[in-house]
Amino acid sequence: VTSDASPSLPEAAILPPGSVIGIVGGGQLGRMLALAAANLGLKTHIFTPEHDAPALQVSDAATLGDYEDSAKLAAFADKVDIVTYEFENIPADSVTLLANAKPVAPPPAALAVSQDRLDEKRFLDGLGCAVAPFHPIDSLADLRAASAHQGGHGVLKTRRFGYDGKGQWRIAPETELEAIFDALSGRPAILEGLIAFEREVSVIVARAANGTQAIYEPIENSHENHILRHSAIPANLTQDHAAQAADMAAKIVDALDYVGVLAIEFFVTQNGMMVNEIAPRVHNSGHLTADACFCGQFEQHIRAIAGWPLGNPSAHSHAVMTNLLGDEVADWADLARQGNAKLHLYGKQDAKPGRKMGHVTRLTAKNPA
Ligand code: AMP
Repeated sequence: VTSDASPSLPEAAILPPGSVIGIVGGGQLGRMLALAAANLGLKTHIFTPEHDAPALQVSDAATLGDYEDSAKLAAFADKVDIVTYEFENIPADSVTLLANAKPVAPPPAALAVSQDRLDEKRFLDGLGCAVAPFHPIDSLADLRAASAHQGGHGVLKTRRFGYDGKGQWRIAPETELEAIFDALSGRPAILEGLIAFEREVSVIVARAANGTQAIYEPIENSHENHILRHSAIPANLTQDHAAQAADMAAKIVDALDYVGVLAIEFFVTQNGMMVNEIAPRVHNSGHLTADACFCGQFEQHIRAIAGWPLGNPSAHSHAVMTNLLGDEVADWADLARQGNAKLHLYGKQDAKPGRKMGHVTRLTAKNPA
């Protein structure tokens, strides 16, 4: 680690094998982080409120507690060498408590900016990244004015705690704005202009404390019912658009003095690349990197936060990742028969409709003979 290491990760913080990585959150992302850490001889300790969380099956230790439970959080921090997280809706006070006890990576400031869509948009806009036109919404009058400004079309989003289309409403000229405003139940929101995008891609980028970066090639994503369905590389993208996305990714992680893996979702538009949102963590759209790249996003994140050299993000294969939602996971035996299909099951019991139960990544040779 060189002298320009981030203050959040002191210079000497190279974690040797046997060190303990604390992961806040016990879902499938935490599970795959724990597996990657184990491959490098590192231990993991999961903090989660759920006794049957997927990550618990593959980690070394767990603290079960609510994300607001300061006594439990302190006990957890005591037992780990560094803290990371696998989801972004961790209460700010809890992050502060953890950061006062142990190094936290990615940096808490990156988490804070990604937790609030208004702060996030202002941050990205300030960096010169194109974003959808946006208007803060705190009253019905704000909503009426913003909607008129956008020609009656837009997407209303709560500023905080939205995911998979939750806390989002499409607005059209005939929409009854009062009813939609009531649905917010007093939560602050933003109205975004409706973007007529050609496609959606994401870029996964890693940054080490010494400023080194590893950027994965853009991944093309398709959604159904607001939930990611497929991700694929190579993305159908011009070289110019790919370069724009990579430039923005590099700028974003540098501005945040970032350590770890960050995901950026883009809209591809006629006028170039536009950032939709950033996630300060490994990401569902990056799952294919685990099978199609020399160093996948999970190992990369562990390497970055542990102060190890970053791995090679290049893809050795083409890949299509498909999420297994709800009872689609019942097809596991068929999928297991498909030779080039890498099957990942998350160990969840209850296959509720739409729940992410696993994924399958189908690989094809990049340069067939
Ligand atoms: P988000 O939660 O911001 O990732 O939004 C979920 C999905 O809604 C995106 O992946 C897009 O497909 C769609 N979406 C979000 N914002 C907009 C927008 N401003 N214009 C058009 N579509 C959008």
